Amino acid sequence: MTRPRRTGSVALIGAGPGDPGLITVRGLALLRGADVVVHDRLVSEQLLALVRPDARSIDVGKAPRRHKVSQEEINRILVREARAGWTVVRLKGGDPFVFGRGGEEAEALARAGIAFEVVPGITSAIAGPAAAGIPVTHRATAASVAIATAHEAKGKAASRLDWAALARVDTVTLLMGVERLGRVAERLIAEGKAPATPAAVITDATLPTQRTVTAPLAGIAAAARRAGIRPPAVIVVGDVVAVRDVIGGWDTRPLSGVSVLVTRTREQASELSGVLRELGAEVVESPSIRIRPPRSWSKVDRAITRLREGAYDWIVLTSANGVRLLGERLRAAGLDARAFGATKVAAVGVGTAAALRAVGIDADLVPATFTTRAVGEAFPAGEGRVLLARADVVEPGLDEALSGKGWTVERLTLYHLTGAGTMPAAVRRRVLAGDIDVITFASGGTVRAFVQALRGKPGRGTKIAAIGPVTAREARRAGLRVHAVADPHTIPALAAAVMQATGRMPASSESQAAGRAR
Ligand code: SAH
Repeated sequence: MTRPRRTGSVALIGAGPGDPGLITVRGLALLRGADVVVHDRLVSEQLLALVRPDARSIDVGKAPRRHKVSQEEINRILVREARAGWTVVRLKGGDPFVFGRGGEEAEALARAGIAFEVVPGITSAIAGPAAAGIPVTHRATAASVAIATAHEAKGKAASRLDWAALARVDTVTLLMGVERLGRVAERLIAEGKAPATPAAVITDATLPTQRTVTAPLAGIAAAARRAGIRPPAVIVVGDVVAVRDVIGGWDTRPLSGVSVLVTRTREQASELSGVLRELGAEVVESPSIRIRPPRSWSKVDRAITRLREGAYDWIVLTSANGVRLLGERLRAAGLDARAFGATKVAAVGVGTAAALRAVGIDADLVPATFTTRAVGEAFPAGEGRVLLARADVVEPGLDEALSGKGWTVERLTLYHLTGAGTMPAAVRRRVLAGDIDVITFASGGTVRAFVQALRGKPGRGTKIAAIGPVTAREARRAGLRVHAVADPHTIPALAAAVMQATGRMPASSESQAAGRAR
């Protein structure tokens, strides 16, 4: 990047409490445009992954007790980078002005005459309790809330804390205080807070690893110690804590605390990962298969020409990837869905049908069960030509089923599937150690690629969920024990199979699913 001649600027941005989705729209836009990102330790890797590839990242928040960049040094870095002409983002956990020393940074910038902007963030002091199902104010029980730090270092704000005043506020949330939890509870009780007041400690709020411990104020320190709660954590004291029992939090969702490995291609993984995250799971992605376009597009282009001429009665698409690649190729030729003309379209699976709908095509045939064989069975008898557009590796049987019905089948390879060959070392270590609760497989090819890259067996206790019987068979052939099979063979059903594998399904649907799992 060449160095600009103008003076740069700084945006002090709140990254939110942990979940990367909890940054503001403005914050994200500025982050994406930054030349330099100066960030804290508690900022999500997933957010940092969104900065421009040529942007520079400066980590100023080293782990506790290791060398830490001083506040003065951080201020100097901000001024220096902006003076050099860069567009600087100072990304801070939670809100920059809530115990984030953002005020000091803003003062330093103002003094140095540097243009800056403050983008507020969602503070853990309010979002932490919220994520645990605790509203900090509540009709009838809490009309006031105080945010304080329990970090009583000499000369710092907490040494001036008015505990008597705090004890009179309905809801008290305390940051940076897990180590001093016992002392905090004592002080509040000494100043008149009832020992039976409900209290909670929430660690890793809004993250998949979030945990909440609740107890009466007098017993909260012991309870947190027993549970091994470590920083970062928010302490909440007040009657509002009881609301959690009614409304539940992020950590009371069906897959809270469950780690799930998603092994599809990177392109396909997002839907399953999204559904699993919604259910509270910690999703670990390890794409074990890569999609490679064909070496030459000439065959595909020729088929497109023939499609426009009306040479095919049917076109069969067997994956969303196929639809995507065909769409790209059509667009490259200046065409769109109208190229299909009167050609009928069959889709293997709802994912394929949805991908078609996205380009304006309603599939004429989507079999009731979503396997290649089912398409063959559902297909009408006829005499014309069928274009079977798909990956190079396919489950066998479809060609035969179609020609058996009288059709002339023309095969077209839209893309190749190859094993990624490797998996990230950290993921491999977790799988081998049994530190993954459930592994998901959405195709037989993925199973093969996964086993090849793992070079070993998943640790004991790890469960396996497969999208359908063919994939399950492939997994068993590779020596894996399959605990749940999705039915129907869709992504939402695969997510349900994950729940079933972990025993998190309600009793009625569990027995049903177990019956199907064979
Ligand atoms: N500016 C931040 C707070 C920085 S001080 C904000 O507005 O959230 C750091 C303290 O914030 C931690 O010690 C902890 O008390 C709290 N904290 C930050 N992120 C947290 C999280 N994900 N879960 C629980 N507490 C968190």
